Amino acid sequence: MKILVTNDDGILSEGLWILVQELKNIADVIVVAPDRELSAIGTAVTLRQPLRIQELRPIVPEVEAYSIDGTPSDSVILALGKLVRGKVDVVVSGINRGLNLGEDVHISGTVSAALQGYLRGFPALAISAPYGNEHSLHIAARVATLLAEKIAATSPPTRIFLNVNMPDLPLAEIAGAKITRLARESHLNTVEEGNRGRQKYYWLLRQRISEATDNNTDIWAVEQGNISITPLYTSRSDKPPHHVLNSLCSDLIQQLHNG
Ligand code: MN
Repeated sequence: MKILVTNDDGILSEGLWILVQELKNIADVIVVAPDRELSAIGTAVTLRQPLRIQELRPIVPEVEAYSIDGTPSDSVILALGKLVRGKVDVVVSGINRGLNLGEDVHISGTVSAALQGYLRGFPALAISAPYGNEHSLHIAARVATLLAEKIAATSPPTRIFLNVNMPDLPLAEIAGAKITRLARESHLNTVEEGNRGRQKYYWLLRQRISEATDNNTDIWAVEQGNISITPLYTSRSDKPPHHVLNSLCSDLIQQLHNG
C-alpha cells in the first residue's frame, strides 16, 4: 500500500510526523507538504509563478519527504504529477492543529489538500485534532491509519473523501465514531476594528457556534464526545453507499482500544 501525506500546517508540524509514524506501519509513505504554515488558505493553487521542490533528509527513517514553496493543494498536485511513482492508495491530509467543522471545510487548507487527491481519483482523508491537545494527535494518527486500511480494503473500490475530526477527550472517554454531515451556519464571523495612530486596521474573527441540538452534524458529534467522520463529495452520484460508510466506523472504537 502507498499513502501520500500532506497538510496545511507545514512540513515541520508535529501532527504531520505523528501521523507518518503510524501510517508507516501499514504502508509506504511519501510526504509532500508546504514549507510553512498555510492554514485557512483554502483551495488556492499557484498558477502564476514557478514552484520549487526540496527533498528533506529523512525525519522518519525510510520515509521520503519533500517541501514545496506553495500551497497544500500545490503539494498534492506536484506529488501526484511528479514525485509519486505509480498510483497511491490513499491521500491523507493532517493531522491539523485545530478542528475543521461545518463551514471550515470551505477555507481549510487541510481539507482542500485532500480534495485535490479526491479530484484526481484517489480516496482521500482529512483529519483534524483539537488545538493544543498532543494526546489527541496520537489517537488521531491511529484513527487515520485504521480508516486508511479500511478504505484501501473496500471492494469494489469506492470514491471516497472523508473529513475526520477528533473530540477533545482521552481515548477511554471517547463515546463512539459517527457518520455525520457538515453543520450549516456553523460560525459567527465578525470584524473587530482598531487604530494604530491614524491608521485603521481590522481583524476578521471566527467563532464556532455550538449546534448541540442539531443531531448528526459534525459539530454535534464532537460535542457529544464522538469522532466525527463526514463524507464529502462533489456530485450527489458520488455519495458513498451507506454500507461502506458504516463499515468504516462500526468497529473503529473497539479497534482503537485493542491497539
Ligand atoms: Mn492548519
